[in-house]
Amino acid sequence: MKIQFLGAAREVTGSKHLLTTDNGRRILLDCGIYQGKGMDTEELNRKLNFDPKEIDNIILTHAHIDHSGLIPYIYKLGFRGSVVCTSATRDLCAYMLADAGHIHEQDTRTYNKKMQRLGKKPVEPIYTKQDAIDCMELFIGVPYDRKFYIDDKTRVRFTNTGHLLGSAVANIEILEAGHTKRLAYTGDIGRPENRIIKSPSPFISADYIICESTYGNRRHDNSLKADEDLLSIVHDTCIIKGGKLIIPSFSVGRTQEIVYSLNNFYNEKKLPKVDIFVDSPLAMNVTNVFRLHADCFNKKILHIMENDPDPFGFNSLHYVKSVEESKQLNDYSKPCVIISASGMAEAGRVKHHLANNISNPKNTVLMVGYCAPSTLGARLLRGEKNISIHGYPYEVKAQICRLESYSGHADYVEIASFLSCQDKKRLQKMFLVHGDYEAQTELKTYLESKGFANIIIPEKGSSYNM
Ligand SMILES: [Zn+2]
Repeated sequence: MKIQFLGAAREVTGSKHLLTTDNGRRILLDCGIYQGKGMDTEELNRKLNFDPKEIDNIILTHAHIDHSGLIPYIYKLGFRGSVVCTSATRDLCAYMLADAGHIHEQDTRTYNKKMQRLGKKPVEPIYTKQDAIDCMELFIGVPYDRKFYIDDKTRVRFTNTGHLLGSAVANIEILEAGHTKRLAYTGDIGRPENRIIKSPSPFISADYIICESTYGNRRHDNSLKADEDLLSIVHDTCIIKGGKLIIPSFSVGRTQEIVYSLNNFYNEKKLPKVDIFVDSPLAMNVTNVFRLHADCFNKKILHIMENDPDPFGFNSLHYVKSVEESKQLNDYSKPCVIISASGMAEAGRVKHHLANNISNPKNTVLMVGYCAPSTLGARLLRGEKNISIHGYPYEVKAQICRLESYSGHADYVEIASFLSCQDKKRLQKMFLVHGDYEAQTELKTYLESKGFANIIIPEKGSSYNM
């Protein structure tokens, strides 16, 4: 078999790796979109280094768009093989890809207006919401820990990585020249403890591993402390200062964790009596997918659900669906908490809430996730006092805070401990993907100190026979 690294090679987005078996089957491991590279992103995404019609299958590790977001595009270009993933990943993709298609249509409309003014030709969106809806016919949801036969020589089994609802290591077994070779692709690896989903599971020893390395040179704080910090920020902002707390948050995963933390404080009667709004239609739909998959939940949340059947809902929490309801929040004068996408404050409804609230010193903006350096979120975190939103200038007078411990990715010590289940004598090669080169080289050194050998940091486009 041969593996070729087509994306997320010495970088963090655009995950896609092409596996070609000796009998000629071509399997794409993830099919993610490139994000956050400005004007270059569009070209990187449209220019594929393979023919979608020649791909037999996709094995998808999880629903995040940087792993799944190009599936509607290659469907549009003629891919008709099956997409094999966990059941929860399939359900999340149904909403997330449609949402991505809608955003591509909106962005293209805005871009075309500019082009029209310059007398240039309009462009088509990379794919539409309808393409994303249509491609769902290819998805096959498989429960965790069950073998799925792709053909009589190739099978896959998903084991939990604790990164996102449905996230998995793809444990692939290929029968070649009379013996079985095992390739494990980790996708993204979560932290040892997640508030909602089960902890990462050990996975069967592999001959080859493709491992993520996002935080290959970072150590995280203790995550449980973050819950207490969140509560004190709500209290300081809403009760002491009488202001509004704006939380830019990713709609998938992060928002559910924050809502669940607030839900627990509500049950414990610690949460101040203020209204909490989740202003993101995607977050609402995704929360419903979470509610469907209690099989992925850890013991702690299942225990809480014995007395509180809905851990993502309480009396003072309101999910905001329509644009009109979202606009009404502009006139809401009482202290409150608004959780809204996007997490990097680059797009989405949260920009309106920031525009309305950022110049009032009573208010707080709380960042809870990674912000790419060029984004509005990163500029706020750097302490910039004069910013622009939707083309208008604003002076930052609100307090800017950060909680880092809601991270969805394991740090380097946690990655090594996740890999400790592996038989180092059996392992022939490990490829590090999904990380900046600096983080990858540091992770490589750390893993070598833990006894792992033959670690490769592949370049984009490079391929290896195994
Ligand atoms: Zn991910």
